[in-house]
Amino acid sequence: MKVIVVGAGLAGTVAAARAHGLGAQVVVVADRPGATALHGGGWAIGPAALVAQGLLPQRLDEALGFVRAGLPALALTRGPFALYDTDGVRRAVDMAPASHAAARKRRGRWLVADLAPLGHPFAEMLGAVGAPVAVDWPRWPGAFGRSFAAAAARFDGVGEADALLAALAAGLAPHGELEGVLLPPVLGLDQPEVHRAVFEEALGIRVAEALGTTPGTPGLRLHRALEAWLARLEIPVRRGRVTALHAEACQVEIEGRLEGADAVVLAVGGRLSGGLDGSEVTPLCLPVRPRPPLDKVAAVRSRGPYWGRLFEGGLRVDDRMRVLGLDGGVIDPHVLAAGDVLAGPDPVATRCASGKAVLSGYLAGENAAKGGPR
Ligand SMILES: Cc1cc2nc3c(=O)[nH]c(=O)nc-3n(C[C@H](O)[C@H](O)[C@H](O)COP(=O)(O)OP(=O)(O)OC[C@H]3O[C@@H](n4cnc5c(N)ncnc54)[C@H](O)[C@@H]3O)c2cc1C
Repeated sequence: MKVIVVGAGLAGTVAAARAHGLGAQVVVVADRPGATALHGGGWAIGPAALVAQGLLPQRLDEALGFVRAGLPALALTRGPFALYDTDGVRRAVDMAPASHAAARKRRGRWLVADLAPLGHPFAEMLGAVGAPVAVDWPRWPGAFGRSFAAAAARFDGVGEADALLAALAAGLAPHGELEGVLLPPVLGLDQPEVHRAVFEEALGIRVAEALGTTPGTPGLRLHRALEAWLARLEIPVRRGRVTALHAEACQVEIEGRLEGADAVVLAVGGRLSGGLDGSEVTPLCLPVRPRPPLDKVAAVRSRGPYWGRLFEGGLRVDDRMRVLGLDGGVIDPHVLAAGDVLAGPDPVATRCASGKAVLSGYLAGENAAKGGPR
């Protein structure tokens, strides 16, 4: 039983891992990072919106448990809770990596680390969490601007973690009794939770990171954690673009070369990733419903007649994630879809983004593997 998964974002990786776990031989085809690499760190699950999308959430806990086990480096913690991002915006989230979730339930006195060399008024913007503490940390001279992700990549270098820890300890020492300190998301790209635990142990207080803004550290961490998951399962990832889908033969064309399987899962993302392009058919010639509004500008306005309409359109699927044609029938029982490419309510308005990718990816991988040989 062979399954081809197109796209290696959150939905594609979950689908691939699930199909692999059920015994399928899985191949992933992906060209470049998509929306997943822009994730802010606060997972919007939105169970109510999943129902509106026809994704019955009875399997949600199972799917989320699967993802948490697959991404150990992130130590995903279930909410709901509210967390601040690096611009000081308070966000309601349903799940978050532990390095961010550690900032919930603050009761005592917190300070916010002012890592001045990063050139972002982080501590000033996070005034709602605590007073700024100046950290004398001239290790990375020159302003990184808003790029905490660049700082996080630098942090993984030899000696950087120790240097930041020493600077933090010196900065916090004169401030007496504290419950915790909030940092921007700079604790490396691969093992943030390991570093956070070391910092907590050494400082004797709670340590947490703010959520990211786009583009930022949490998205890059998620992207790398998903890559690591596929690598651990030894699922091959072919770099390349699928240029055509032959649904009836269950074949994809990867830059001119045909590859067949018993099932194909399209986890090609939305408009940002090239899975949709704003027209009535996707680049792989599948029908988009509801039809995209003609007035694209009105469609993205936050208030107005078409609020959120631009992001409603996508592939329609049945409860087994099989892609539906214009007549409402399954185009082929072995062609499935998952993630941002699916039609559904606006993800921002309904606070359902990662939840849709996880649940639909999980179900698509499962049904692809269980669909049997063609
Ligand atoms: C800026 C931004 C910030 C976000 N922040 C959050 C957040 O904080 N919390 C939250 O819950 N959600 C957030 N989301 C939403 C969330 O990131 C997405 O819903 C989710 O990651 C979608 O995953 P996906 O796998 O469906 O798509 P993607 O991650 O976009 O993956 C699709 C992949 O398919 C590949 N692909 C497309 N076409 C082809 C082809 N023909 N051949 C080969 N490969 C192809 C693309 O290159 C891409 O890598 C955010 C989204 C954006 C855009």
